[in-house]
Amino acid sequence: FGRPWIFIRGVPSMNFLPPQGPLEVAFAGRSNVGKSSLINALVGQRGLARTSNTPGRTQELNFFVPEGYSGEGHDLPPMALVDMPGYGYAQAPKDQVDAWTKLVFDYLRGRATLKRVYVLIDSRHGIKKNDEDVLTLLDKAAVSYQVVLTKTDKIKPPAVPRLIAETLEKIRKRPAAYPEVLATSSEKVEGLDDLRRAIGETVGY
Ligand code: GDP
Repeated sequence: FGRPWIFIRGVPSMNFLPPQGPLEVAFAGRSNVGKSSLINALVGQRGLARTSNTPGRTQELNFFVPEGYSGEGHDLPPMALVDMPGYGYAQAPKDQVDAWTKLVFDYLRGRATLKRVYVLIDSRHGIKKNDEDVLTLLDKAAVSYQVVLTKTDKIKPPAVPRLIAETLEKIRKRPAAYPEVLATSSEKVEGLDDLRRAIGETVGY
C-alpha cells in the first residue's frame, strides 16, 4: 500500500465496469459504519474515499488502483480496491434498496477477479438484520467475505475480544464467511496492519 492510490471509476451499473484484470477486494457496510475512513486509513490518504455523513449519496461502486498504471494491455495494476455503496439507512425507498441489491449482486456474480469482500460492522452495533441480508447475498453469490469490526475505540477494550467471539459465532455456519474477524479503529489507527496483511494474502499484493 506504499504508493499513492487513485480513483479510476464510479460504476452506477454493470455496463460501466472496468475490464477485468487486476485482482480486487471490495468493502461493504452500512452507511456511516466508517468505510470511507477505513479505506483512507488503509492507504494513508485522507481524501481518497469520500468521508461523508450524507447517507446513501453514492449508489456507485468506486474503483481505486495504485497510481502509475495505464490499465491498457499488460500495464495492469497489481490490485484494485472497490468501495461498495453503503446500505441500510432508514429512509431508503424500496426502489433504491432494490437498485442497490441488483448492482451489488450482479457485480458479485459476474466478477471472477473479485477475491474477497470485507464487510464492515460497527463495534457499537454488531451484526444487524440488514448486515445479515448482505451476508446472505454474499453466501448466495459464493463470494468469500471477511468481517471487519470498525470504531473499536468507541467500546471498552475488554469488550473487543468478546465482540469478536460473538461475531464469529454468528457467522460460523455461513458458507462463504472467512472464519476470522478483524477489529479496527481508523481513528486510533489500530488493526490496520492486520487488515493490510489479510488483503495482501488474499490478492498476493
Ligand atoms: P461511511 O459512511 O461508512 O463511509 O463512514 P465514514 O467513514 O464517513 O464515517 C462515519 C462517521 O464515523 C464519521 O463521523 C467518522 O468520523 C466516524 N468514524 C469513522 N471511523 C471511526 C473510528 O475508527 N472511530 C471513531 N470514533 N469514529 C469513526
